[in-house]
Order: sequence, then structure tokens, then C-alpha cells
Amino acid sequence: MSDQKMTNRMDRRSNERPPVKACHVCGGVRVYYLFSTADHRVVRCEDCGLVFLNPQPSDDELARIYGADYFLGSDSEEGHLAAGEIKRATARFYLSEIRRYRGPESGRLLEIGCGAGDFLVLAEAEGWHVTGVEYSPIACEKARLRLKNGSVLCGELQSAGLAAEQFDLCVISDVLEHVRSPLNFLREVHRVLKPDGTLFIATPSIDSWSARFLRQKWMEFKAEHLTYFDRQTVQTALFKSGFRDVIVQPGWKILNFDYVKKHFQRFPVPWITPVLNLAARILPKRMQLRHNRIVASGIMVFSRKAGSRPQPVLSVIVPAYNEGKTFGLMMEALLRKDLPGLQMEIIVVESNSTDGTRAAALKYKNHPKVKLILEDLPRGKGQAVRMGLKVASGDYVLIQDADLEYDLEDYDALLEQLVAGRSAFVLGSRHGGHNVLKMRQFTGQLGLSLFLNLGHRFFTTLINMLFLQRLHDPFTMFKVFRRDCLSGLEFKCNRFDFDFELLIKLIRRGYRPVELPVNYRSRSFKEGKKVRMFRDPLTWLRALAWLRFVKIDPMRVVEQMHCADQAGKSFGSVKAVNHKP
Ligand SMILES: [Zn+2]
Repeated sequence: MSDQKMTNRMDRRSNERPPVKACHVCGGVRVYYLFSTADHRVVRCEDCGLVFLNPQPSDDELARIYGADYFLGSDSEEGHLAAGEIKRATARFYLSEIRRYRGPESGRLLEIGCGAGDFLVLAEAEGWHVTGVEYSPIACEKARLRLKNGSVLCGELQSAGLAAEQFDLCVISDVLEHVRSPLNFLREVHRVLKPDGTLFIATPSIDSWSARFLRQKWMEFKAEHLTYFDRQTVQTALFKSGFRDVIVQPGWKILNFDYVKKHFQRFPVPWITPVLNLAARILPKRMQLRHNRIVASGIMVFSRKAGSRPQPVLSVIVPAYNEGKTFGLMMEALLRKDLPGLQMEIIVVESNSTDGTRAAALKYKNHPKVKLILEDLPRGKGQAVRMGLKVASGDYVLIQDADLEYDLEDYDALLEQLVAGRSAFVLGSRHGGHNVLKMRQFTGQLGLSLFLNLGHRFFTTLINMLFLQRLHDPFTMFKVFRRDCLSGLEFKCNRFDFDFELLIKLIRRGYRPVELPVNYRSRSFKEGKKVRMFRDPLTWLRALAWLRFVKIDPMRVVEQMHCADQAGKSFGSVKAVNHKP
């Protein structure tokens, strides 16, 4: 084909629907049909849970949808003013949340899909130096007229030709779900952001209440929405495109009744649209135009551009207290362990043992792979792991007990799941494989085994019921997760209840743990098992009760970090004795 012909073909829009060969986020190919919406197939990736259209609508179909009247217009002048006021109120709210996340300084801001510039006008007034990118030429013109110094580029991000590392903040509001390849798009955003720059995304979420409630009738299922994220898949997409410190919040929007009613008139939903129409006849007009902050169908996602590393790093945290018999063996095995494509840092937290474990730990003081933290007093395993987490710098975290109950050979399979991006949080399950009853088999102590196994069943059922899970072994010590999952989380538990706290706070942040079978050799109490039979179950019950209801507010945690930084205090001042933090 000649160059001329090729160019002509590129210029013309295609009316073919492009198929998606592999999942946008994890690259998996086990992608199954869910249902059809407006003559489009909605599919779900079996591996990571991403929902998307496959095939995608053709260029022609999308061009027809994105006509001049694409933005929700209003027929009356009054309604038009109200819609503008709604957009400004939402923009004000987004800007205040962004300040909470990144601190008070402004700088250079890029908004992709800036529309007629509602957000940019406000950001400019708040001291940002703004740039917009917008697909619709009419909207571009409008935005240019409204801005004082800011500029608007007409077209798409990838063709805008922006120089690398020039923005402090990038805002993508109701755009990510429209792009053909979300990961390529995010990588381009990563390129144009300055190191440590902030990315803010607002996008619909299939784990929002409206999606759960309306199911296939969810108003966000439409031809131009090509990808449907949830809290977990958006975090994986960001992780894979080089962003860290991700915080996902419910997507508050400032809306009024009139706007919601018009939306459902345009995209009718059985019984909701009629009910809204009826209410519109009854409610006073003033009430219909009043602004309310409501959780709608989406999420707000905050993240930061991370530096790149030659290889991802795994942090292995080893809490060690009175493990003299096994500590040395375990450390040698760990240091011998080769993980292709990954670097390892080992963080030993020694809690002033009385059986020689401290002396054994001090032998690794000068080892380049080992960070050593020495506690004055044993304050519980949870406290030790929390200290370890504060100095961990890896992309992934694995908690390894200093005994030999778990098998290091299982590392590879557990980590592969994370590295591939199929999940963010993996549990090594002692109930998988063929050793169904392996968990508690103490020779000659049948009664004790039975008691512990029943206890295990009871607590597992309780957790599954309280947190809507289907786990088999939530109490495994073998937990592997992306360190980024912890951003904005605080931990308080000191003893074995820390395992509950970690598990449940990750679940409540939207991570679905994946269980993979691991090898396990149970120790008896005589061999040094440290769980106390009567005291610990009571702390577990108490922990479960408060973990079900405790407020998880990652934004408050981030704000406290800014305050601590400003006051000159370093947040979480844990130091490894042999490494500078
Ligand atoms: Zn996937």
C-alpha cells in the first residue's frame, strides 16, 4: 500500500469495532461475557476483575455519540445556569480534596478533557497555572475565551505533544472510562508529570452503591464508556503505570434534583425514572434546584508519580522473638532464596529475646540485604510488624515468621500473582492443595487439635459473614501484598490481632484477597507456639467488632502527615540500626 493510500485510510474513521485481545490492566486472556448493553458486549476479566466493552465501539460510532450536544444541556436558561453552578461546586470540592492530599502549594496544572473549562477557571482563580486538553473544538473555543492566562490544546493527550515532566498536578475527571487503552493513557500522564507530581482521577466505579443496586441497568453502562474500574482495578492500573500512594475515596458530587431527574429522563431506568418524574411534579421548584453533596456512581482517586527502579523490590519483614532454634536457619534459607526479576530487602525486627535470638540477629548487622530494628521490649508481634512496615521500601511486602512453619518454596507462586497484576493481596492458604486437615495436627493431642480447628472454623465463618468474603484461611501468617495497599491506613493492634487488622482494613479498602495453597507445618505449644488459648480469642472478638465499624479515613491520615512534616517531625520515626531511613 502506498504512503498516500495509507494516509487516506488513517484519515478516514473506521467503522470496524476493534476487539480487545487481552485485559487492559493485567493482560489476562480469560475474559468472559457478562451481558449486553445498547448492542455492546460487556465482559469481565476472570483474573483481575476488570469490566470492559469487547469489542469496543468503532470510531464512527463514537464520533456520532460525541456530537455537539454531548454535554448534558438544559433547555431553559435557568436550568443552564444551575448546571454551571453544579459544575463549579463540584470543581471547588475536587480542588479542596486535592489540597488535602498534596498540601497547599499550587503550581502547573493539566486537565485532560477540560470541556468548556469550568474546572480550569476555578483552578486559575486559586493560583494554578493551567493547561487544558480537549477533544471537542467547540468546547476548546469556549474554554479559551474564559481563561485569563491558561492555554487549551485541541485534540487528544497522546497527540498533544506535551514535553516531559512539566506538570505538578494532572486532573482527569470523567475521562479514563472513555479512552481505548487506559494503561497507555496513564503512562503518558506519568511522562508529563514532574517527579512526585499528583494525579487526580474521577471515574465511575462498578463497586459503587448505584452499580450494585441498579446492576445491568446502571446508568454508567453505555457505549462510550469503554472500561469500568472499581477500587481494586484502578489501583492496579495506577501501580502498573508508575503511580504510588494511591487513595480511593467515594466519588462525592454536588448535584441537585433537577440534574438527576434530567439524567434519568435521558437514560431511562424502569421505576426510577417514573418515580423521579412524579416527585418533580410534587416537590417545590426551589427544592429541586438546591445543591446536595451526594455519593454518586463513582470514585475519586489520588496518586503520586513514583520514581522508576531497575527492578521491583520485595520487603520481607521478619518479626523475631525467642526463636533462637530456628532464626538462623530461616535467615540463611531466606538469603539463599533467589527470586528472578525481584530484589529482596529483609527487615528483621528483634524484640529483645532472652534465648539468644538477639545475638543471632546482630550477626546480620552489616549484611547489605538486611535492615535490623532492635526493640527494647517485646510489645507483641503486631507492633514488631508495624515497625518493620515503617522502614520497608519495597514494592511488595511479605511477612515471614522467624520459625519454620511456612515453606519458602511457596514465595514464587504467591509473588507471581502480584507481579502480574492479577491481584494486590495474596493469602497463602493452609487449606488448599491436598492437605485439607494439615492445619492443626499435633501428635498425641487430638483433643487440643479438635478445639483449635473448631475455633478456626468459627472465626473464619464470622469474618466471611461480617465482611462478605469467601475465605478459607484468613488467619494465615503468609500474607503478601503491594506495599501501596497500605497508603493512608493506620494500624493500632499489637498482638496477633494485628493479622486481623491488616486483613480487614485491606478488605474494607476494596482489595479482594486471593488465596493460594501453601505448605505448612504446625508447631505445638510445646515447640513454642505463642498464641494464648484463652486470652487471644477474646482480643480477636473485640478486634472484629471494632474493625467492622471503625471509620477508615485515609485522607485524614495523609493530612496528618503533612502537618507532621510542617512541624518538622518526621512521621513514624523508626530507624533501622544499620541503615539510614
Ligand atoms: Zn485483568
